[in-house]
Amino acid sequence: MKKATTKSKNAKPTAKIKPVSKAKAKQMVDELCKLYPDAQCELTFDNNYQLLTAVILSAQTTDIQVNKVTQLLFKKFPQAKDLAEASLDDIKEIIRPTGYYNAKANNIQQCAQALVARHGGIVPDNMEELIKLPGVGRKTANVVLGVAFGVPGWSVDTHVQRLSKRFGFTQETDPVKIEQDLQKLFPGQDWSKISITIIWHGRRLCYARKPDCLQCPINKLCPSSEAC
Ligand code: SF4
Repeated sequence: MKKATTKSKNAKPTAKIKPVSKAKAKQMVDELCKLYPDAQCELTFDNNYQLLTAVILSAQTTDIQVNKVTQLLFKKFPQAKDLAEASLDDIKEIIRPTGYYNAKANNIQQCAQALVARHGGIVPDNMEELIKLPGVGRKTANVVLGVAFGVPGWSVDTHVQRLSKRFGFTQETDPVKIEQDLQKLFPGQDWSKISITIIWHGRRLCYARKPDCLQCPINKLCPSSEAC
């Protein structure tokens, strides 16, 4: 879930995109759902603790990079108690390629320790308890709730933030306010599916720097299209 650091050179300025109607928003996401019928979380994990750890590690990097390091991390520390008792230096060494490894190593170990101390090593299934864990904010919690427990939610990562503005779904910049706008626009049961579909479109066509509007199947609907 890599965060964009450079403003798009080709996309229209997002702040001026007019809000679209609910009907048009539905039309756009329906087309995207047809384009990515198999959209799903691209992190590799075998249990909910591993999912939570991988999502924390995915800040400021790609899921591909996370999957590379978690191969070894989860082999050595397959359960929360294993990571909770691990040497911090060992953890840092393994996750170093994901960037910000000092902070991330502390976060994932303290999160594992809290899981063991408060929840018997089990990942809780509700937002209230999840966001009390070290390194876990609403975005991370929503991914875990959606993927592990089927609880609908918006994962407002860098792609959802960027595309929601381009689509005219929101004019907000604060992730919590974006989440609130998106919640009003779509029915609750669809939030997770639409969220991951938008993330896939951000990774595959609607890039931060140069969105591929010519190839985009919603270029006739999208208010930020450069193809018309
Ligand atoms: S037309 Fe497609 S690629 Fe271009 S800005 Fe809109 S959604 Fe992104």
